[in-house]
Amino acid sequence: MEEERQSVGRVSRLHATASQQPREGVRAPLGSLTVTPALWMKTLAGLRDRSAEWRESAAIWAGHVTDTSWTAETVHFHHDLCDDRAGALSLELSEEAKFALYRLLGSYGQRLVALIHTHPHDWVDLSEVDEANQLSSRFGFWSLVVPWYAREPWIVEEIGVHRRGALGWHRINVAEVPSHVRIV
Ligand SMILES: [Zn+2]
Repeated sequence: MEEERQSVGRVSRLHATASQQPREGVRAPLGSLTVTPALWMKTLAGLRDRSAEWRESAAIWAGHVTDTSWTAETVHFHHDLCDDRAGALSLELSEEAKFALYRLLGSYGQRLVALIHTHPHDWVDLSEVDEANQLSSRFGFWSLVVPWYAREPWIVEEIGVHRRGALGWHRINVAEVPSHVRIV
């Protein structure tokens, strides 16, 4: 019952956020992010388990990138890359782990596609710390924020979808998320 009540509440909050406009002057690059259902589920399940309802968790998607098409092929969880030293509202990826990952991806000919991390509640904007994260400054890089520490149900429209543009981060309108994030 508790879960059911929460789900209803979350739907109304989704509608409340759907009308929010992205910040003026920060336009997102064109293009889409494609991820297979299997990778999507593996990623969210891994984040849910690592977050365990009390701490943030994060993962990196790597894959192939063209001007308009970003395809996630593999997931790399922060907690597999290093001791991510997370708390309720933060987590870290060490510089050492970051550069080891860059080398690994380079050897596979892969690129960084997206950072995906959890927040404790339904707020899925990027925090100042998130915005300052320099995992990738590439134009068009994706940053996804999963609410409720990735607890199920996983609803794509509740996830904050952000892209790196020429002038900073841009959050994609909730109504436009399904046309940008393709789980196929
Ligand atoms: Zn965050």
